[in-house]
Parts: sequence; C-alpha cells; structure tokens
Amino acid sequence: MKAPRDRRWVKRTFGEFAWRDRKRPRGAVEILGDWERENIISLRPPVALADGRGRPVSRIRCHRLIAGPLQRALAELGRAGLSHLINTFDGCFVARHMCWDPRRPLSRHSWGIAVDLNARLFPYGSRERQDARLVRVFERQGFVWGGRWRTPDPMHFEMAEPPDPGRQVSILVDEEHVSDGRLEEGTVVAPVRKVAEALGCVVEARLEEGEVVIHSMKRGK
Ligand SMILES: [Zn+2]
Repeated sequence: MKAPRDRRWVKRTFGEFAWRDRKRPRGAVEILGDWERENIISLRPPVALADGRGRPVSRIRCHRLIAGPLQRALAELGRAGLSHLINTFDGCFVARHMCWDPRRPLSRHSWGIAVDLNARLFPYGSRERQDARLVRVFERQGFVWGGRWRTPDPMHFEMAEPPDPGRQVSILVDEEHVSDGRLEEGTVVAPVRKVAEALGCVVEARLEEGEVVIHSMKRGK
C-alpha cells in the first residue's frame, strides 16, 4: 500500500500556481497565471462513463502527467469487463479547497491529479469499501485510495507516484532549438504553443471546449 504524498511533493512534481478564493461556489478557487493552460489537458475516456446526473462524460480534464496512468486504469477496467464498477465519475480537475471548505488547504483536485468515483455510494467519511478490483487497478497505476485514510474518503483516488519522465528530446525548427519535449510511448510530447509559434503560427486555446487551435498563417486569413 502506498502512502499519500505531502504538499511539497505535489508542488514539485505537478507545479505551483497562485490562486485566490472565488465568491461562489463557496470553497472554489481561481487559479491565476498560465499553469492551468500549460498543465491541464482534456482526455477522452476509453470507456463509457456517466456523471452523478446520468450524463455521459465525454472529456476528463486532468493534469497532463496523470493522463497516461488514468487512461491505462480506465482501459484496463474496460478490457477486464469491469467498467461497470464506476457507477458515476464525479470529477477530476476542480480548483477548490478540500471539502469545499475555504479554511482548509487546496484539494489535490486543484492540480487535476485526483478522481472521485461513485461519490454517492462512497461519501467522504464513510467506511464503505469500493470494490477491491477497482481499487487494485487504480493502485497499480500509482494512485492511492482515500478509503484507507484515517478519515476515509472512499470516493477519492489520487496520484502518488512520480510520473514516468519519458526520454528527453530537443525540438528544433530549422536547426534552432525551440523547446524541450519528451518521448512518451512512441509519441513526442511538447508545448504546442512554443512549437507552433516557432513555425509562424498563432495558437488559440479554447479551454471551455477543450480545444487548442493552431492557425496556420500560410493559408491566409
Ligand atoms: Zn476527491
């Protein structure tokens, strides 16, 4: 069993940001600066998921460094015929305080490194246990399960393993270094904006839609 990580590890691994409290909903915070744009990505879940109101979850917004493990955990449940163990998917990236309580520290959901599953059946503080097969799949991918904590949070799974850094690569445009990137499972992952701007393109982030659009200048406007 893995232990949860402390806040210093979270900041060192997933980045730091400035924030301020929002007026509503109570306990929500606003992340300031570029951190969210640079780190939170939109992932298409490999299995059918529904939220607490029965609506399909077509996108999960999460930290880019947990996209791989989260995708693998969900895909493994799907392959094993166990995706029904996620009755509801109750969120990942939400910038807020723990328990929506402004007096408490920021939740790991603010970093997009935690997911809540089956919230109604496994509320905060409850000693109900999620299906052991579900817990095992997530633990194998580096998540810790909140159901094991002194004050249990059995809906909650959060990342506690350092991400696989992949192999570092340099990205060059016309032999000029524009950015560092990483080779992850055969794909080069690099900041879109830096690479696109080096190519003379303009990048537009449509965060609400979960889209990043590269406007190619040569096609004219
Ligand atoms: Zn949670």
